[in-house]
Amino acid sequence: MSQRPFDLDPLFLSISTLPGVGSRISKLMEKLIEGPKILDLLFHAPVDFIDRRFSCPISDCPNGKVVTMEVRIEKHFPSARKSLPYRVKATDDSGAISLVFFHANKGWIEKLLPIGKAVVISGKIEHFQGQPQMMHPDIAAPDERETLETVEAIYPLTQGVTNKVTRKAVTAALTHIPVLPEWLNDAHKKREKWGDWHTCLQALHTPMSDDALDPMHDTRMRLAYDELLANQLTLALVRDRQRKINGRAFPATMTLRDKVMAVIPFELTGAQKRSLAEIDSDMAEPARMLRLLQGDVGSGKTVVACLAMLSAIENNTQAAIMAPTEILARQHAETFKDWLDTAGIRFVTLTGRDKGKSRDLILKQIKDGTAQVIIGTHAIFQKDVEYKDLGLAVIDEQHKFGVHQRLELSNKNKGTDILVMTATPIPRTLALTAYGDMEVSKLDEKPPGRKPIDTMLFSNDKLDQVVAGIKRKIVEGVRVYWVCPLVEESETLDLAAAEERYDILKATFGERIGLIHGRLKPAEKDAVMEKFANGALDILIATTVIEVGVNIPEATIMVIEHAERFGLSQLHQLRGRVGRGAEKSYCFLIYSAPLGETAKERLNIMRDTEDGFIIAEKDLELRGSGNILGTKQSGMTEFRLANLAAHGDLLAAARDDAKLIIAKDPKLETERGKALKTLLYLFECDQAIQYFRGG
Ligand code: ADP
Ligand code: MG
Repeated sequence: MSQRPFDLDPLFLSISTLPGVGSRISKLMEKLIEGPKILDLLFHAPVDFIDRRFSCPISDCPNGKVVTMEVRIEKHFPSARKSLPYRVKATDDSGAISLVFFHANKGWIEKLLPIGKAVVISGKIEHFQGQPQMMHPDIAAPDERETLETVEAIYPLTQGVTNKVTRKAVTAALTHIPVLPEWLNDAHKKREKWGDWHTCLQALHTPMSDDALDPMHDTRMRLAYDELLANQLTLALVRDRQRKINGRAFPATMTLRDKVMAVIPFELTGAQKRSLAEIDSDMAEPARMLRLLQGDVGSGKTVVACLAMLSAIENNTQAAIMAPTEILARQHAETFKDWLDTAGIRFVTLTGRDKGKSRDLILKQIKDGTAQVIIGTHAIFQKDVEYKDLGLAVIDEQHKFGVHQRLELSNKNKGTDILVMTATPIPRTLALTAYGDMEVSKLDEKPPGRKPIDTMLFSNDKLDQVVAGIKRKIVEGVRVYWVCPLVEESETLDLAAAEERYDILKATFGERIGLIHGRLKPAEKDAVMEKFANGALDILIATTVIEVGVNIPEATIMVIEHAERFGLSQLHQLRGRVGRGAEKSYCFLIYSAPLGETAKERLNIMRDTEDGFIIAEKDLELRGSGNILGTKQSGMTEFRLANLAAHGDLLAAARDDAKLIIAKDPKLETERGKALKTLLYLFECDQAIQYFRGG
């Protein structure tokens, strides 16, 4: 199936072909290194090393240092009880040392360390009651001393996979590394003083100094750069391809827009006007629009999307907006209804809920053009949904969609303009990895009149206080979201916790309290949401399904239990459900004490700032990139070698490099181009590779 260069084949062999990796270990290791291949093992970087090159007489042994030395075995002291260690006394001309073994087999030790014999031992020195001792030393015969006197890489491990096993496998894997054609630009490589790929990969596994573990070390930088370049090149190729598909010009004639603006009860903010102008100018061009509209929760993306959609409709095409969830899609439909009705625009809503006859009818309206606006979930881009002529596709809350879905969508209609909206204020570095150099419009200004949200932390033994406070507020007519603990990645357990909380609070608050969770039927969810929205309920208890983007301005209190278990960006999204109206809003973050240092720092950030951008940057710093973009949902893989908190500059360089490559050699046919194809195969950048094969 694959046209992968033969050179790479050894790297794509299963790790089970390596010595010491049987089927049990290979299963465990596969999980640990996040892949089944030898290459995955080679990308599994050591986190530390033990330097066994130091040697000294026993009497000089420094406490805590790893020492390798030759000693004579003097005497054995078998353990008197199981819980006590087996000790062996060894000496050299300067003094004595005690070798300590727990749970050791007597026969095995006697054979390994016969009395009177000279052996080389290696391990960490500990001073115990004034005596040097060494626990479970590594041992070799004096003529094999060099097998011990090495530097030993230490790997992240998992239950059942020891460092010894890992090292043995890695050592064998290192012999599989082929010499590959250089894909780096010569001058760039020289300037950075980077080595060849295969030498860097070797060096990664043989750290000799603390420097070598630093992400800024030459070796790690080069390997990270390769990975980032593969990523950026893929995105650049995808984009180049999308660009070449001709778009159409949709000049904004303003006739529909003026009608809709007349019924919108507010002025657009400066940021909204600016973003809309940027979108207008893209759409007016015959080239295809690929734009990202980035704006914090509550910054008002929806209205911008709606106004942009009108331009497509004015030009006799259709416009679609895709939300990540059913509830959000319904809410968009609600919001759009007044606006679109005013302008006499026909729209349909399509989600997974529509089945049978009613779905057929909707599909017919989409196909024959009766539906000018299509609002829905990913259901609107399923294979059998045919559009008469889709001019603009808007994707809301993009961070839940992956590159794959975006491609699928753009294949629906060859020239469709695309506007992606994201509520996650993705740090620039991450935006680059996810979107390449998509054009970006930013809503960096909130609609006027918003009051800051007061965020407070409570340990869970203060829950009574929180409940009492809420009780007072409810009398004043306030509405409350109550998000229940994320117990595990288990919906059942989450639900049990939410139901328990519901029962407890019901005892205090009575009937005006509702519960919403993922197991409810769509109609039931709607009903609960509706009751909360129109004020029939004061408190809405929810598992984490309170959908991003839900807009109920009267809700002004957000309670989040076990806040320490959420990601910062997730907390920010949840908190963004309140503070949408004119009343002052509160967010109570309940945590279970005691909190670790990082957890404390994270919750403090939430208390100190409402700036989604700062929060996302901190989240990246504290947790790594995968969690911010929700890699798991989006199907995007996290980087193996690159660390975005450290390698942001490399990413920018890789982006520029990729741009230049595509400009000069779009089909990767030059010498360097061919080497770059190897790079893409190495990182399994399927999407980019498809383009070469598909022609
Ligand atoms: P998000 O960017 O999170 O999707 P929304 O589009 O849901 O935000 O907007 C949040 C709220 O702000 C909505 O109630 C919307 O009507 C309101 N809104 C949007 N733009 C403005 C504005 N310029 N002035 C006042 N309110 C606005
Ligand atoms: Mg929104």
